[in-house]
Amino acid sequence: MRRKLVAGNWKMHGLRSQLSEVEAVAQAAAAHPEVDVALCVPFTLIAAAVDRAGALPIGAQDVHENERGAHTGCVSAEMLHEAGATLVIVGHSERRADQNETSHDAWAKAAAARRAGLQVILCCGETEAEHNAGRAERIVQSQIEKSLPDGASPEWLTVAYEPRWAIGTGRTPSLDQIESIHAILRAKLRMMVGDAAEGIRILYGGSVTGDNAEAILAVDNVDGALVGGASLTAQKFVPIIEAAARASAAKG
Ligand code: PEP
Repeated sequence: MRRKLVAGNWKMHGLRSQLSEVEAVAQAAAAHPEVDVALCVPFTLIAAAVDRAGALPIGAQDVHENERGAHTGCVSAEMLHEAGATLVIVGHSERRADQNETSHDAWAKAAAARRAGLQVILCCGETEAEHNAGRAERIVQSQIEKSLPDGASPEWLTVAYEPRWAIGTGRTPSLDQIESIHAILRAKLRMMVGDAAEGIRILYGGSVTGDNAEAILAVDNVDGALVGGASLTAQKFVPIIEAAARASAAKG
């Protein structure tokens, strides 16, 4: 059975004064060992967050595809690893939109992260226009085709379905829509990596809160959540961890 993973994405939020939130999340995670929990913080907070996180994995939100070189302002996977990060998000829709990142970029970043021993959360998801045009299925299949790194396996890879129009908007797809896209992603993974696909977690992301998490996490093939806004405080994030624990118990 795939263990649920609840991963927070702080985006460009967080100063050292907010590190008490990391400690509070770490405590809640320790109280729910049946659920995997992680927090992806800004680069500047990784080392300090690791110091306060105990067993809670701390991750980054981006990585450069090269190991080193003349890439001003960028951070390599080895640097993240040295700072104490154990995972990294790649292909997030905000980076696709703001930095023009492509699925090929996500593929190269995922491969670099893997080489440095990091876990990877690989994001995919359609825009609102694509959603309205009925193209969501085709878009996520194509993104996974182009970005799934070689040797993808559950030991280090997680996929996240994040419809762009649901991120930070308070809107979510219906549970049926989530189920349908996750089933399509599972089928696509099977085609690409065979049996290993059964173990690869597929997270849902986009306006997950303590109020909607339990229903979303009960959907078939939803193996956890990638959470932005509601991960910034333990008060909002811990109920999602608790919902994941209930969903895990319900699935036996
Ligand atoms: C995200 O940043 O990946 C995300 C899902 O954001 P939010 O939960 O705020 O919609």
